[in-house]
Amino acid sequence: MGSIRFTALGETLSRKPIQIQEPEKRLSEYFGESVFNLKAMSEYLPEEAYKQLKEAINRGAKIDRRIADQVASAMRSWASERGVTHYTHWFQPLTGATAEKHDAFFSPSLDGTAIDRFDGGQLVQQEPDASSFPSGGIRNTFEARGYTAWDPTSPAFIIGSTLCIPSVFVSYTGEALDTKVPLLRALNSIDEAATEVCQYFDRKVKKVAATLGWEQEYFLVDSALFNARPDLVQCGRTLFGHAPARGQQLDDHYFGSIPERAMAFIRELEIESIKLGIPVKTRHNEVAPNQFEAAPVFEEANLAVDHNTLYKDLIEKIARKHDFRALLHEKPYAGVNGSGKHNNWSLATDTGVNLLSPGKTPKSNLQFLTFFVNTIKAVHDHADLLRAAIVSAGNEHRLGANEAPPSIISVFIGSQLTSVLDELEKVSKGKMSPEEKTELKLNVVGKIPEILLDNTDRNRTSPFAFTGNKFEFRAVGSSANCAIAMTVINSIMANQLKEFKIAVDAKIKEGMKKDVAIFNVLRDYIASSKKIRFEGDGYSDNWVKEAVSRGLTNKTNTVEALLDFGSEQACEVFEKANVMNKIEVEARSEVNLEEYLMRLQIESRVLGDLARNHVLPTALNYMNRLVENVSGLKQVFGDDFKKRSKVQLELIDTIAEHVEVIKTKVDEMIEARKQANKIEEAKEKAMAYFQEVRPFFEEIRYHVDKLELMVDDELWPLPKYRELLFTR
Ligand code: ADP
Ligand code: MG
Repeated sequence: MGSIRFTALGETLSRKPIQIQEPEKRLSEYFGESVFNLKAMSEYLPEEAYKQLKEAINRGAKIDRRIADQVASAMRSWASERGVTHYTHWFQPLTGATAEKHDAFFSPSLDGTAIDRFDGGQLVQQEPDASSFPSGGIRNTFEARGYTAWDPTSPAFIIGSTLCIPSVFVSYTGEALDTKVPLLRALNSIDEAATEVCQYFDRKVKKVAATLGWEQEYFLVDSALFNARPDLVQCGRTLFGHAPARGQQLDDHYFGSIPERAMAFIRELEIESIKLGIPVKTRHNEVAPNQFEAAPVFEEANLAVDHNTLYKDLIEKIARKHDFRALLHEKPYAGVNGSGKHNNWSLATDTGVNLLSPGKTPKSNLQFLTFFVNTIKAVHDHADLLRAAIVSAGNEHRLGANEAPPSIISVFIGSQLTSVLDELEKVSKGKMSPEEKTELKLNVVGKIPEILLDNTDRNRTSPFAFTGNKFEFRAVGSSANCAIAMTVINSIMANQLKEFKIAVDAKIKEGMKKDVAIFNVLRDYIASSKKIRFEGDGYSDNWVKEAVSRGLTNKTNTVEALLDFGSEQACEVFEKANVMNKIEVEARSEVNLEEYLMRLQIESRVLGDLARNHVLPTALNYMNRLVENVSGLKQVFGDDFKKRSKVQLELIDTIAEHVEVIKTKVDEMIEARKQANKIEEAKEKAMAYFQEVRPFFEEIRYHVDKLELMVDDELWPLPKYRELLFTR
């Protein structure tokens, strides 16, 4: 008994010593080696085609068929020289994963020979078998099929012997079936709106790009141990498991250096990422036991999203090579830090200015304040949508727990900027006297220090924090596609900036000076969005109370939070920003609900099976041993046996009690699931799963974890937390 667990451990412990593969050349020499980037394009394309393609990338200009043919042919030559035989449109459907359909470069011809073929038509468009991707009913309403189309703003890359062409996925009637189309539309919208606003300060600005720097957390677990945990295999998280004696108490003292085996994996991951042009140069930390984090340099948001998606695939693939499995789930282990993915977001102009970075002059600082205050206002007005963008079955275990940003959205800006906003709020309404204006410019706006990065002034408990030159959205889950959070942030900000422009222009029209008009509108925004700003401890119970009294929402019901993505207000936001129409928004909301309830359904099934087939038989088995022991004692000692078997009898009683509760609760859970499954409507069904099925998980787990502590270690079938977390 316990043989799976011990076989798994044995296999793990008997592995050969680790050898860390040192890179053959400097890391910078690998950079972008597998990417059809600008350098490769300029080498392989005729000058005219290269120029047009660059124009299309930078300015969104159309690419005609002739140029597409030339790009296809250049791509194929470049790829073939690198051993590539197949190509695929690489896209991101609503499942959150990536999808690809491989086609060979060669096509057979009628005379029985084959020719190499890859032209503009194949580059630009491909038809995957789309019927199995979730689409939230879009395809039923419209066309049965969807197609993928080349996204020239993200460069093609090579994985193995396949050329991957980043693509969008749309229905024949043009509805977005993926996460990328809405993102591209949102980026377009923010570009337009922000460029307009920049004209107040600098007429040379022609383009504004949203930037994203993500920080990816994940766990590694030995693959043999992983395979012996059906819950990890099927749900990505442990449904049972008692906290280890040595948990995270020792924190930083213990997790200082990365163990060798993990180091070997990280080294390979780093090289492979760099070859694909993912700029992971900052750090690879160990955060909790067997938990790691990587933070690349920020990039234009669309590229950063693709790179994060690609990076997640790489983590999983390379982990397997090193006999690890990667856990991207937000909360694989109860009682141990979960995994998030901070999304650092800012806006950059084509003149090289970071719009969320304070500058040297009052003028550049007024520009900074404009974008800064508008962001706060946008988050204030659309906190529910922002939360809906990050909520999921996995992330619900992390949010609001004492480790991750709470489910209440608030903005932290630090004491220096708080006092600046307080001063600005005091400015008198309407026209200003020259003295007042000078005073404001010199002593308030002019005094914002260029560098705000003061580490003592950092608040780690805020879900949306200003960190000196960018906002950091910390509530995003580790497994999420950042496209969703980025779509929402950029959409609400685009709308906000448009409103701002209208308000300022109206005041200018009334005869107000431009900067006074800007001050006036900002002052109103500062006043009306004040309640979203919170500088205190976001994990404290007091904050929950205070937030309620401020009128902020704290949705702890996941289904309700999910529904906010398809609310009237959300549809208005997306329509106004030209990001999604009502059908597209509702389709996503439906897919989210489906996904949520499917995950709960799977977890409930796995939990029931594990309890019945693993836990209960093991507990009964151990009970039998105790019973045998007691009856043996009776034979030896006769009536005197009672005194000698006190402990055993107590144990038998306690185990019997836990066994009974587990059996009863599992039966009740299965009944609740059956009832929920009868419900047709997705919203009601998800709600039934949340309210009626999910509460059993914790209840059953409590008793199973108690048994884990009591039953003979040799008999326990599931690898324990101490093994999963500390085997290195
Ligand atoms: P932490 O949040 O753990 O303290 P850092 O301050 O090192 O970590 O976070 C840096 C992250 O912020 C990196 O991912 C980096 O790429 C990103 N970042 C820095 N500047 C910008 C910017 N202008 N736009 C977007 N992301 C940025
Ligand atoms: Mg961070």
